[in-house]
Amino acid sequence: MIRDLELAFIKIHILYHADKEAVFGVGLMEELARHGYAVSPGTLYPTLSKMEAGGLLTCETQIVDHKQRKYYRVTPEGRQLLNAMREKIKELYKEVIKS
Ligand SMILES: [Zn+2]
Repeated sequence: MIRDLELAFIKIHILYHADKEAVFGVGLMEELARHGYAVSPGTLYPTLSKMEAGGLLTCETQIVDHKQRKYYRVTPEGRQLLNAMREKIKELYKEVIKS
């Protein structure tokens, strides 16, 4: 159960960061670790693929240090979902944290 909930938070983080700049797997793992989420490549990469397949992210492969790296950016649909989630987070925060 905790994994389901954490995965939802992780997805929101991914949308948020992919809206600000192009993100890639290792960078996201470091960023998520900073927020207290231990995400393995076995969880993160399939999640990114699913979000791409679902039309929330676009993926572009670039060569960095002679290696292929997949960079993800949010799509307009992903941004719309992020904004909808912002409202829900605000509402949740008001109840769960502030009350
Ligand atoms: Zn973050």
